[in-house]
Amino acid sequence: MPNPFENAMTQLNKVAKIKNFSDEFIAHLHEPNKIKKILIPIKMDDGSEKAFEGYRVQYNDALGPYKGGIRYHPLTEINEVKALAFWMTLKCAVADIPMGGGKGGITVDPKNLSKGELERLSRGWVRGLSDILGPHKDVPAPDVNTTPEIMAWMADEYAKITGDKTGATFTGKPINVGGSLGRENATGLGGFYVFNSLREQIKLPKKCTIAIQGFGNVGGHAARIFTENGHTVIAVSDSKSAIFKKDGLDLKKVEAHKKKTGGLKNFEDAKNITNEELLELPCDLLVPAAFENVITDANASKIKAKAILELANGPLTPEADEILFKNNIPIIPDILANSGGVTVSYFEWEQNLKQEHWTEKEVFKKLKQKMEKASKEMLEKAKEYKTSLRMGAFILALERIQQKML
Ligand code: GLU
Repeated sequence: MPNPFENAMTQLNKVAKIKNFSDEFIAHLHEPNKIKKILIPIKMDDGSEKAFEGYRVQYNDALGPYKGGIRYHPLTEINEVKALAFWMTLKCAVADIPMGGGKGGITVDPKNLSKGELERLSRGWVRGLSDILGPHKDVPAPDVNTTPEIMAWMADEYAKITGDKTGATFTGKPINVGGSLGRENATGLGGFYVFNSLREQIKLPKKCTIAIQGFGNVGGHAARIFTENGHTVIAVSDSKSAIFKKDGLDLKKVEAHKKKTGGLKNFEDAKNITNEELLELPCDLLVPAAFENVITDANASKIKAKAILELANGPLTPEADEILFKNNIPIIPDILANSGGVTVSYFEWEQNLKQEHWTEKEVFKKLKQKMEKASKEMLEKAKEYKTSLRMGAFILALERIQQKML
């Protein structure tokens, strides 16, 4: 398995060859400001005690407080968290929000925990790290397998420990405890706004066929939003299986089927395929919305999509990136494509600090403006430096960060 942090650093070294950033600046960005590892002991329901490893990486805060989600996954480890924290730094800069980059995680399979155990673990993560968190220090949020409910437990624990009244230390909270309207579908919607801004540039038709890898919070909402806007979702997958129907899937029925059977398999007359096969389907747009490193040098040359929208973080290895670039398959990079989530997290933080409540309409309007502006600016950089959209986004982000660090 390629190391995500090495991949991230390969991207950074590549951009340094395209634009002349100072060596010192690039060297600085090869290391996070702070890495904190903790052990979280919790009481299990059967009375035994078990300890889990937790992390927070604070990568860079030149633009504002560290910002980024917390991932619960059995494969989560420090190199992944470091890579994700680095990408958060660039993501906030591309979206032009005044926040830095951080990321957290716990090595755990939350499916093996009861609700009580999950709550104790989440509160334990906050207890172990509360001294480095805070509305003006570090503001975590949900990521893979972490929910608004978990954010509510964490925000509550943090308030108990510190007496903080702003509620602005965690974002992605449920609406009744200070969450923002629109946060839940913000990543998918932001991705759609970005896609729409760039669609003509990347020569895609008005109505696209789309294959989406991942049917969770990001992929599920994206599938719905693209369908509502006239596109046809021909394939979706979850961690276990994938389904494909050439003339389009009825997503409401797919959701009902998943609820009923616990998976996607054997949905009506759709074809059961593998996750790997989904990535290689002929379609207009491929949307990886699950994990890192799903497109590598092993399958990049088999990709038949006309373009890729990266809603997951780091779904392509640098080698895959090169192959697709040579094959003229444009890639709308993660640090822009999925920045809608953190953008609405920033809106939530702002509302908490100002004690305001914005309507969903207002949130979406502001999100749309941010995504359109960032898409345009990325495209201009890519054109100016005659490079890929990813490198354009990197240049845009790094220029903003460098300016604050000088
Ligand atoms: N975990 C999300 C991401 O990777 C959101 C982070 C946030 O809202 O702070 O962008």
